[in-house]
Amino acid sequence: MGNTVAARLKTLLGEIPPGERLVAVSKFHPAEAILEAYAAGQRLFGESRVQELLEKMPALPADIDWHFIGHLQTNKVRQIVGKVALIESVDSERLLRKIDEESRKVAVTTDVLLQLHVAEEETKFGFSPDELNVFVKSDCLKDCPNVRVRGLMAMATNTDEEKRVRADFRRAAAVFSEIKSEMGPFLPHFDILSMGMSGDWPLAVEEGANLIRVGSAIFGNRNY
Ligand SMILES: *Cc1c(COP(=O)(O)O)cnc(C)c1O
Repeated sequence: MGNTVAARLKTLLGEIPPGERLVAVSKFHPAEAILEAYAAGQRLFGESRVQELLEKMPALPADIDWHFIGHLQTNKVRQIVGKVALIESVDSERLLRKIDEESRKVAVTTDVLLQLHVAEEETKFGFSPDELNVFVKSDCLKDCPNVRVRGLMAMATNTDEEKRVRADFRRAAAVFSEIKSEMGPFLPHFDILSMGMSGDWPLAVEEGANLIRVGSAIFGNRNY
């Protein structure tokens, strides 16, 4: 692994199979680091905090696509609607309805992913597979024409145990395929499966991810 952002990005891009899209997760890293990745060709970045995203955006090129990937509070939705290309972390009906409401006010359609909880940890946000299956068939999506559900985002259990991680990704991919085949006509844009981070993206790709979210392998360790 090289020791500059550009070198690490280049290495990573060389390893990712064609057809995969990469979100460079820049949370906790300064605008200069983002510009380094931008200069190396990266245009898709991910942030997990509203305040941090809004502080960085004005200093950076307008042709960056931002993905919001963190837990989003309903009272902050208004601040990012119309500014981000995709909200990857929709974890409740209430949040989806709020995104729809704020999108309607400014006459935009907002692309979102529904966050699926498959990991062992209790602390991670998201719908369980059962909750999600019920939710996508509920009236909520029909009630929310200013939101376009583009697919699912999932995280695996935080462990070195490859079998566990792979099982989590496989489960998420199965839920994704099931929804796609059952709900296809009602969710015509349901085509994104976002999973895999620095430590586990190769497994996620093997299990069917088409969008990966990689931070520390590009930008180095974060200083929390
Ligand atoms: C921070 C974060 C990532 C990136 O994690 P790394 O281990 O640094 O690659 C991916 N997805 C989400 C939701 C995150 O919060």
